Amino acid sequence: MDAEIIAVGSELLTAGRIDTNSLYLTGQLNALGVEVVVKEVVGDHRGRLAEVIRQAMRRARIVILTGGLGPTEDDVTRDAVAEALDRRQIFHEEICLQIEERFRLMRRRMADVNKRQAFIIEGAEVLPNDRGTAPGQWIDEKDCSLLLLPGPPHELEAMFGRLCLPRLERIVPRQVIRVRTFRVAGMGESDLDQLIAPVYTKYQNPATTILSGPGDIQIHLRACCTSEAEALALLEEVGQPIEALLGENIYSRDGEPLEAAVGGLLRKLQATLAVAESCTGGMLAERITSVPGSSDYFRGGFITYTNRMKQQLLGVPEDILKEHGPVSAQAAEAMAAGARLRTGSTFALSVTGIAGPEGGTAETPVGTIYVGLAGPSGAEACRRRFLGDRARVRAFAAQMALDTLRRRCATVSK
Ligand code: ATP
Repeated sequence: MDAEIIAVGSELLTAGRIDTNSLYLTGQLNALGVEVVVKEVVGDHRGRLAEVIRQAMRRARIVILTGGLGPTEDDVTRDAVAEALDRRQIFHEEICLQIEERFRLMRRRMADVNKRQAFIIEGAEVLPNDRGTAPGQWIDEKDCSLLLLPGPPHELEAMFGRLCLPRLERIVPRQVIRVRTFRVAGMGESDLDQLIAPVYTKYQNPATTILSGPGDIQIHLRACCTSEAEALALLEEVGQPIEALLGENIYSRDGEPLEAAVGGLLRKLQATLAVAESCTGGMLAERITSVPGSSDYFRGGFITYTNRMKQQLLGVPEDILKEHGPVSAQAAEAMAAGARLRTGSTFALSVTGIAGPEGGTAETPVGTIYVGLAGPSGAEACRRRFLGDRARVRAFAAQMALDTLRRRCATVSK
């Protein structure tokens, strides 16, 4: 079953406010097995809103409007719905008295404009608002249920949870949604898509979404079925060939981040880790220690930005820095070897590179990163180049370092 959400309010079309109600509603609807297929934000314009409502009602079984139920001229939702449905609005004396009572409890006098909130669309069911003045409304028109809910999130959430969910549960056929997430590192998005598109494009259910971040791709498979067993079987049917195609590029099958996957491998090997960072300035250590329990395997790190610090803290030989420079495979190897030796860790990772925007040369352009890895069998380094701004290059570098270690640990544990 499909739903559309329409957030009403000109303030939501400015740079200062965002529509968060639709995120809440989407979560609630998805949990019921209802797919949100369109979200729209419409300013306080009755005619335009009426047009958007008509369109949505032609397409979806459930249409939810949030906001614009206040008492002022710019609160146009009631009028727009009346126009779209060609229904009258009827004044409800008892609702007006309830609003008046609310003001009385706050020791305030109700302004005349608040009477507008006591107008209900002909045939609508009133959804009382126990947290504000604007009542919500539930309207059934042909095959569509149209819900008018207040804009303030605490009012909307209370009304939706208490009054709308039980009604929706009665009309929504029983559906189960299950999601499988694969996370992939060390591959570009287009290469990945080229590889797995022949599998997932054969299926509409599960729906496949591919999200890409610096050095990190998430594949979400979302199955919507009448039973859990059916959903899980479908996820297996599509997930299994995708797993086979991506092989060791997959680092997580449950959505956990790379640093957690690496932590799991280190723990399994009973290995320890140290880091030596230059251009990432602590990002690597931050990610590693963001995982609860990382003290089981993480010994510590060095942020060595200058040559002097690389020499003093890590023992990188002066010759290497003079001959090859601090951004070189030799420097990366020596940094990793130094961090490993000085912390007594099983492994040490190092990162050195040019994050930009300045500092590149023809030989070592901006975006060049060396990752060093020292372990029981010696030290080695690899070079990559990432395009993008400073933040992106640094994020890529940290990701590449973690992935280098992940692959090494996976080989060792075989
Ligand atoms: P009220 O009668 O309380 O004014 P209303 O239904 O008229 O309720 P709006 O006036 O549209 O609601 O919005 C009131 C406030 O609620 C906004 O200033 C904003 O802070 C918040 N709000 C409105 N719509 C949204 C939304 N889609 N997401 C998050 N917050 C919202």
